[in-house]
Amino acid sequence: MNAERTDTSYRAWLDIEPTSDFSIYNLPYGVFNRNGKKRVGVAIGDYVLDLAELHEAGMFAGTAVAGENVFARHCLNDFMSLGRAAWGQIRQRLLELLDADNSELSQRQPLRDRALIRMREVTLEMPVEVADYIDFYTSREHASNVGRLFRADAALPPNFVYMPLGYHGRSGTIFVSPHKVRRPKGQYRPDPTKPPIFGPTQRLDFELEVAFVVGQASEEGVPIPVDHARDYIFGAVLLNDLSARDIQQWEYQPLGPFLGKSFATVISPWVVPLAALEPLRVPGVKQEPEPLPYLRLAEDWAFDLHLEAWLKTVEMDAPTRLTKTNFRYLYWSVAQMLAHATINGARMRVGDLFASGTVSGPTPDSLGCMLELSQAGRSPVLLPSGETRAFLEDGDQITLVGYGDVEGRRVGFGECVCTVVTAD
Ligand code: CA
Repeated sequence: MNAERTDTSYRAWLDIEPTSDFSIYNLPYGVFNRNGKKRVGVAIGDYVLDLAELHEAGMFAGTAVAGENVFARHCLNDFMSLGRAAWGQIRQRLLELLDADNSELSQRQPLRDRALIRMREVTLEMPVEVADYIDFYTSREHASNVGRLFRADAALPPNFVYMPLGYHGRSGTIFVSPHKVRRPKGQYRPDPTKPPIFGPTQRLDFELEVAFVVGQASEEGVPIPVDHARDYIFGAVLLNDLSARDIQQWEYQPLGPFLGKSFATVISPWVVPLAALEPLRVPGVKQEPEPLPYLRLAEDWAFDLHLEAWLKTVEMDAPTRLTKTNFRYLYWSVAQMLAHATINGARMRVGDLFASGTVSGPTPDSLGCMLELSQAGRSPVLLPSGETRAFLEDGDQITLVGYGDVEGRRVGFGECVCTVVTAD
């Protein structure tokens, strides 16, 4: 193995469109299903590379995964649990096997045909068995806008600039894209002078977020230092935190989000490794006041990732873009989320998921949910079809996309798609 080469010196022997999210610089991990059999694979261009097949052919000899085939599994958890050194070895090996100068796979039939499968021929499954799920609230713009819309008296909560705020969500209702979500029912109180009513939510919303997958466990009672995050964060996905705003508004005080959020959360199927995001590292938003010592960063932990949300209604022939924003706008970083989530001694488990919170930017076209885009329904969004939207209607399809540019090639997530289905 050649440890001297940088990731961006590799050139794939496959043809990959320049607009593909899955360039050789990316190599995201997922779980695919072909003929009822689930296995771990890596996305490359329009293909899935079957890692279990490569393992059986001895292609990972001499690496940390050489023993048991951790890729012949229904989730990434066993592979992730091997740790950062193993993640690095496998990424390095995959870069070699896909490199134009290497013939170990490109010239080896029939292994090449067996291991390289067109993505359209497989079904993508949940990549991770999610252990615990935390939804953070790290966009200052989103927190300020929601503060204004939900509570006329207060914009940004006073604790926001001191710690990454979050709540523990529900891991059992996280689904992989594409997902159909049935409009949830619940209690809400449209008229604050009258008792609540029960019925299908009238204010169904999406939230454009990025979520990080924890790939290493930590011990109870031992906080993870902020500068050790690389040992724990395996990779990232897109996440749509579906929200019923009317249910949320009626229930959220005093204990926070509950049934307004727990019915469904959707993630994209490919986990982009942290190593692939390294070239996209940029300085984050200036933190003022300076965070407490356990949250102080010694290096940059923001990522230049372009994010978009698209809407297609039943009436429309093609989707329209609702928002374009950037992950670098977030106030708190994933390293700080991890340090904060464990500072009380709480342990982390393999498969824990940390969502960033809605990624809203500073401009009106960079808002990451309908609540903000429509000013809580007061200014419905006008669509190219002539329709308007304050919140999501039945049949609406929301697609989240996101990618970074690495030397003219993309490191992207693919799509995170969710369609709204009529309530029972
Ligand atoms: Ca959220």
